[in-house]
Amino acid sequence: MTIAFLNGDFLPLSEAKISPMDRGFLFGDGIYEVIPTYQAKPVGMKGHMARLKSGLSAISITNPYDETQWRDILATLVEKNSPYIPSGNIGIYFHVSRGTDSKRFHAFPDNIAPTVFGFAFEIAPAQPLNKHDVKAFKVALEEDKRWQRCHIKSTSLLGNVLHFQTGVEQGVNETILHNSAGEITEASSCNVFIVKNNVVYTPPLDNQLLPGITRSIALEAFTRASIEVEESRFSIDDLLNADEVWLSSSSKEIAPVVEVNGMAIGDGNVGDMWQKAIKAYHDYKFIA
Ligand code: PLP
Repeated sequence: MTIAFLNGDFLPLSEAKISPMDRGFLFGDGIYEVIPTYQAKPVGMKGHMARLKSGLSAISITNPYDETQWRDILATLVEKNSPYIPSGNIGIYFHVSRGTDSKRFHAFPDNIAPTVFGFAFEIAPAQPLNKHDVKAFKVALEEDKRWQRCHIKSTSLLGNVLHFQTGVEQGVNETILHNSAGEITEASSCNVFIVKNNVVYTPPLDNQLLPGITRSIALEAFTRASIEVEESRFSIDDLLNADEVWLSSSSKEIAPVVEVNGMAIGDGNVGDMWQKAIKAYHDYKFIA
């Protein structure tokens, strides 16, 4: 059993119910966040709150809570779920949909209250510091077929789900995406980094990718640790010829990739730069 939050109440997840007329259900009309916590300490709370605010504003939903209220809900969810998730590695999912309407009509309805849902789930432990102890990822590669507003953390995730499933069907862990110009953008549920000659590269933010909070913490952490990093576009060839490839997300932190589309990256093992990067990330993540 775990405890969820629904429209102001904390209750067992199995008892949390919404109407089938909720626009989140009918249209995927909502915004979500996933915030990692370790031993009750959240990572990147400021960034998650800012992205939630800008996502809600981008789709004209009034933010139902201020930052203090969101922080209190998060802390209560962590506290109430700690007995059920004893590892203390707890992800908090927040979801705000436009709310429940009486009809199914595309236009934003007037005067409906957003539906606010939160639940807790176990995430992987923090990444180890030693490259021999980390799970290495293998990924597929395909053209991004999603919409042109990938910077909005929308609950309409069918495009991402289909890209992720490509990887599953190829027996790998994720799918890296490129645009029609052959530039890498992100992955179906992660941001992407490559390393070449000890310099770290990640695509710059625009409408083709989510402004990942882990990405942003990592960029600051690398700069603090004097790891050279550049936000710049790179091609499929650059990806395949990189010394190292990494994915980043709230639940994976920074995860090394050793194979793309069946081709080994570098020597096919987790690299030394990953080890430097994860140390820099851990040193900074609770400060960010
Ligand atoms: N890109 C996509 C498409 C995602 O779904 C996610 C996370 O869910 C990310 C990037 C990474 O974002 P964050 O680091 O904020 O988890």
